[in-house]
Amino acid sequence: MERTYIKDLESKKGQPVVIKGWIDIRRDQGKLIFLDIRDMTGYVQGVVLPAKTDVAKAVMETASKVRPEWVVAIEGKVNPRPEKNIQKDKQNGSIELEITGITVLNEAATPPIDVRSDGREIGEEPRLTYRYLDLRRPRLQTNMRSRHTLNLFIRNWLTKESFTEIETPILTKATPEGARDFLVPSRIEPGRFYALPQSPQQYKQLLMVSGFEKYFQLARCMRDEDTRGDRQPEFTQLDLEMSFVAREDVMALNERLLIDLVKTLYPHKKIQQIPFPRFTYKEAMEKYQSDKPDIRTDKNDPDLLAFCWVIDFPFFEKTDKGGWTFTHNPFSAPKPEHMDWLMKGEKIGDILTTQYDVALNGFEIGGGSIRNHRPEALSKVLEIMGHSPEKIRTNFGHMLDALGYGAPPHGGIAWGLDRLMAILRNEPNIREVIAFAKTGEGRDLMMQSPAEAEPERLIELGITVKKK
Ligand code: ASP
Repeated sequence: MERTYIKDLESKKGQPVVIKGWIDIRRDQGKLIFLDIRDMTGYVQGVVLPAKTDVAKAVMETASKVRPEWVVAIEGKVNPRPEKNIQKDKQNGSIELEITGITVLNEAATPPIDVRSDGREIGEEPRLTYRYLDLRRPRLQTNMRSRHTLNLFIRNWLTKESFTEIETPILTKATPEGARDFLVPSRIEPGRFYALPQSPQQYKQLLMVSGFEKYFQLARCMRDEDTRGDRQPEFTQLDLEMSFVAREDVMALNERLLIDLVKTLYPHKKIQQIPFPRFTYKEAMEKYQSDKPDIRTDKNDPDLLAFCWVIDFPFFEKTDKGGWTFTHNPFSAPKPEHMDWLMKGEKIGDILTTQYDVALNGFEIGGGSIRNHRPEALSKVLEIMGHSPEKIRTNFGHMLDALGYGAPPHGGIAWGLDRLMAILRNEPNIREVIAFAKTGEGRDLMMQSPAEAEPERLIELGITVKKK
């Protein structure tokens, strides 16, 4: 008989069915044994009735042997519950499955962690070590499925707006973009390294040079940063870039997308203010002492979403050594009225960038800018930062060349999808919305990585490890 998913059982009243899944709960009442079964679509209560025939006795015997988390195929009959026993608010509350056959597909050792609870009472170490079990809990099942729904919504929405999703390389080149890169040694060219991308920044700009005009990607980004709060060494961005746009165009599109996704997927949540309020960096710092201000009028309301934009950041800030570095992104353009200062190398500390950040309830959930699409302007930024002409050529030659071959004006943004997801799901940290999360120290407790490499692999790569 074909398998019926548990969500469809209520439409099969009076019929024989086969369901497959896990034993969720088992209650032995002597004459009766209740088995709650779950599959990816939900839960149903089944009952093994007192046995009269030999076949029924065998079923009863199996039912008394099975334990939670065993994997089973169950044959049964979908019986309507008598009116007084109907549980209106519960999935399959109008039926009970009369179990007539049980096939054990796999037994299960007793799980080291409770997989049915909310999980917040369990320490994070066992949860991450046994993540494949931890993910069985309903809260994480919902988080993962909601994340899929959000991704799908974004993909469809942007597709309707004529965006193309394009995958960019994971093995790329180290560029001074802000954080530290993860390096990947090349076996074929010992002593040379790829870097994992901190973001697809350069590739997406190059795609604008290629004429795609509207690009997006749900992109994995890797940054080898020191542990800070609940950052992860790898995280997901919604990365996008558009051609022939000014700051307003990118901000408007993103604001529309954010509003549509909240209204469609989280209709019970309230967006505090539309259009999203805007603050200059100076205003935000003066008023909220933060460049990602939490402007919620009621901080106790878990369903209040207070988005705001922060704009007009200084382009450069002083380094400890007295030079200049960028505050956000070396590829950004200054505000059009400050282009002159940039090109003349004047009033460097006063130059404002086209950078825009979007904050939500006190977290930065996205940021982007209009870029310098003329090679002279990008060169100038790098020069101000003290890069020698040789270094500029080695690190950014490809970008400068590309901009010289008819690069359209362009700009974009990247959202921190993990953070957005955590806020939408009212989760306290991003690990709750990442399937296989790492600890705050960047360790994968389940796979036990990072791990030492086999000596032969290191020899192949021409690497010697100095033990500390
Ligand atoms: N690449 C930037 C980042 O990862 C975002 C952007 O400017 O588009 O922060």
